[in-house]
Amino acid sequence: MDAKTFSAVVEQTRKILREHPLCDHCIGRMFAGNLGMKSHRRLGNKIRSKLKQHPPRTCYVCKNLMSTLEQQAKKMIEASKDYQFSTFLIGAILQPSIHDRDDSIRSKFRLRGITSIKGDVTRELGKILSRKTRSVVDYHNPDIVFTMDFKKDFCEIKPKALLLQGRYTKQVRDLPQKQKPCDQCEGRGCFVCDFHGIREFNSVEGKVAKFFIEKFGAQQARITWIGSEDESSLVLGNGRPFFAKLVNPHKRQLRLGKKIDLRGVSILGIRPINKIPSDPVRFRTVVEMKIEAERDLEPAQLGKLASLVERPVVLYEDSHHHKKSIYSIKFKQTSENTLSVKMESDGGLPLKRFVAGHQVEPSISSLLETNCRCAQFDFNKIITSK
Ligand SMILES: [Zn+2]
Ligand SMILES: [Zn+2]
Repeated sequence: MDAKTFSAVVEQTRKILREHPLCDHCIGRMFAGNLGMKSHRRLGNKIRSKLKQHPPRTCYVCKNLMSTLEQQAKKMIEASKDYQFSTFLIGAILQPSIHDRDDSIRSKFRLRGITSIKGDVTRELGKILSRKTRSVVDYHNPDIVFTMDFKKDFCEIKPKALLLQGRYTKQVRDLPQKQKPCDQCEGRGCFVCDFHGIREFNSVEGKVAKFFIEKFGAQQARITWIGSEDESSLVLGNGRPFFAKLVNPHKRQLRLGKKIDLRGVSILGIRPINKIPSDPVRFRTVVEMKIEAERDLEPAQLGKLASLVERPVVLYEDSHHHKKSIYSIKFKQTSENTLSVKMESDGGLPLKRFVAGHQVEPSISSLLETNCRCAQFDFNKIITSK
């Protein structure tokens, strides 16, 4: 920095200090931008020694807040000790009177291009935290956000949700896929459900959510499924894909095994992802159905089922319709009026409706010319493009 500018700064500081005692941090902050100095405290100290003045007992602007930041950072580290993070961001809430005094000095002495005191507080805290926790400041997507409220002397911690992708298999019958949300809060989380959003854990969702909540110290695990199944269905093979959003997790970096056994349900290949896809994920399923017909079945008529691969199955909804394809089908009569069907089809085909022929054409019932019902269906494989 050139000597002329520096001595002008020294003179201006002399005028300011005549009216308002300031700490080194606050002096430095007033001029650091113009002089291109990074450390406010060091610059302030340099100016003050040129003026041969002692530091004041109380800084007019920050009331010595700047010199207590080491202690504040200690509190923040203590508050965050149970959280895993490698990046962070700090926000601060200061007494409004600090901002008022800061503004009044700037306008009175026409100081421009100055970091706000709040910016300085968060920057200094960030430096200390970085050093002590071996993590770095990230403005865009931090693992954890600290909000240091100096008015209440309280540090709030908000960890970023953790997003996971995985698959599950289900080896037992009579276990529903989804868990009913807590009836007190409809799943948002309340005291009654311990903020989990669900109160029971007797479903695939419940078992998977419980595992994640416990393992990651999360408040909630919100699960998005690729397709659905019946309570009585098995999900075999490579399993059904799902996404999980873990809300307020304490842990983020865990080594989980390739297969996690949850008694009847297994979680496979869990890995973190950056985003849960917003568009529906396209998939195919290989399903095995047990079908019961009202009348005895003629072997010759069964052959008609092979034609299902030749044209799409049309599902008629209230005002529109959509089409699903069947890619392969195999069938076998298992008694006079029952058969088993194994087929690969587009995901999302409502199997019970497709068998019964309820606003679906063609259907198993229409092809066999008798009312049929799907007594059970199991998923042997679920195929996604990715
Ligand atoms: Zn100060
Ligand atoms: Zn609740």
